[in-house]
Amino acid sequence: KAVIAWGSCSSWGCINTAKPNPTKSVPITDVIKDKPIIRVPGCPPIPEVMTGVITYMLTYDRLPPVDAQLRPKMFYGQRNHDKCYRRAHFDAGQFVEKFDDIGAKLGYCLYKVGCKGPVTYNSCSSIRWNDMLSWPVESGHPCLACSEDNFWDRGSFYAHEPTILPPSWGLGIQATADRVGLAALGVMGAAVAVHAAASAVARAKSKEVNKDMGVNE
Ligand code: SF4
Repeated sequence: KAVIAWGSCSSWGCINTAKPNPTKSVPITDVIKDKPIIRVPGCPPIPEVMTGVITYMLTYDRLPPVDAQLRPKMFYGQRNHDKCYRRAHFDAGQFVEKFDDIGAKLGYCLYKVGCKGPVTYNSCSSIRWNDMLSWPVESGHPCLACSEDNFWDRGSFYAHEPTILPPSWGLGIQATADRVGLAALGVMGAAVAVHAAASAVARAKSKEVNKDMGVNE
């Protein structure tokens, strides 16, 4: 029915095609042209994803629906970022700045230390690994985007992605994590200012009441 490309090497070329690609390696789509191809990328792919693709084909006697890059939608339809348990910290602008800082100890978002979860389509954050024991982000390391095309040549594993999609911050379609962090500080600063103003008014009122009652402060 189809050729299934297990892993990022057959799917994209992966490390074999990394610059300068001395062996002139190519992805499977450059070699096989006369059969449907299903890509199941990952370095390595998740075992449950691999068995899930075959189980689907045996159960329904048809190929699984795939996305534009030939990946089964049921496993590659969402980004790791979408189901990440650290996502609340991302939305709140709370980031690990260094691997040994307080943010790392508190389990903040790893975006600034290179996490590629926002641009990686896979099931790592939901299925996880080793009988759902853990996945890289859960062990404190950024997602490397190992299931995405060309991940070896996308720059440093520890440099953050230049763009993110935080609509809740009202910063437009694209904004950097730094701006999100600054926006968080801005909100916090405004909250502190409001609190200070409210306290000053309360103090002034209290002084007036004391004056009316003849109480010396
Ligand atoms: S950037 Fe990484 S650590 Fe942060 S929420 Fe997204 S996937 Fe999780």
